[in-house]
Amino acid sequence: MTFEALGLNTSIIKALTDAGYTAPTPVQQQAVPAAIAGKDLLVSSQTGSGKTAAFMLPSLHRLSEIDPATAGKTPNQEMQAARARGERPRFKAAQPKMLVLTPTRELALQVTTNTDKYSVNLRRIKAVSILGGMPYPKQMQLLAKNPEILVATPGRLIDHMESGKIDFSQLEILVLDEADRMLDMGFIDDIEKIVAATPAGRQTMLFSATLDGVVGNMARRITKDPQVIQI
Ligand code: AMP
Repeated sequence: MTFEALGLNTSIIKALTDAGYTAPTPVQQQAVPAAIAGKDLLVSSQTGSGKTAAFMLPSLHRLSEIDPATAGKTPNQEMQAARARGERPRFKAAQPKMLVLTPTRELALQVTTNTDKYSVNLRRIKAVSILGGMPYPKQMQLLAKNPEILVATPGRLIDHMESGKIDFSQLEILVLDEADRMLDMGFIDDIEKIVAATPAGRQTMLFSATLDGVVGNMARRITKDPQVIQI
């Protein structure tokens, strides 16, 4: 099995070759074609199985197909244009296309680092981490660039959402990474609030060590006709 056979575009495949990846892992073989086709996924797999690429590669493929002409100006560009017109610029909320929720800062940073590696040939696509403990002004700067992809821990994301800094109305892809750990850490209410703020027509992918019990219940509530993958 090759990455070409999974249907990924050549810019992404080149990045994988440069990163030394020669073939997709089992979870990638199953998840990538289904996710490129727009299906929701429920995946039980462990850390080390290549799960980050399993959700990020098809997402990058889909995001790279969005027409830049319809993607709109970034909040920074809009503020500059307002200044040039002699108007007082208004803060405009970031409108990400993809959100990845993770239980910990460490995992969020790992996901962002891997995303940068996979998207190195996709110049329009940027990913940023929104994490508890990071200085607020720094996060505002990152959000003002209107990144396509946010990788976040739930608590800090809620703060930005409730203060109007992030608008999820344009979100196309939602990923819950290590969902069982997020629930163990008590993030259920935050997750419910975040999911409720995203469009019903989004694509949802949930990764978890187990798909039983509480996490299974939540998974089935927030996905539509999901493909279930057990590795
Ligand atoms: P993960 O399960 O996402 O934490 O990935 C575990 C490690 O495997 C990471 O260091 C990835 O960079 C690496 N990896 C993921 N997919 C592949 C692949 N197809 N070939 C080689 N390494 C990979």
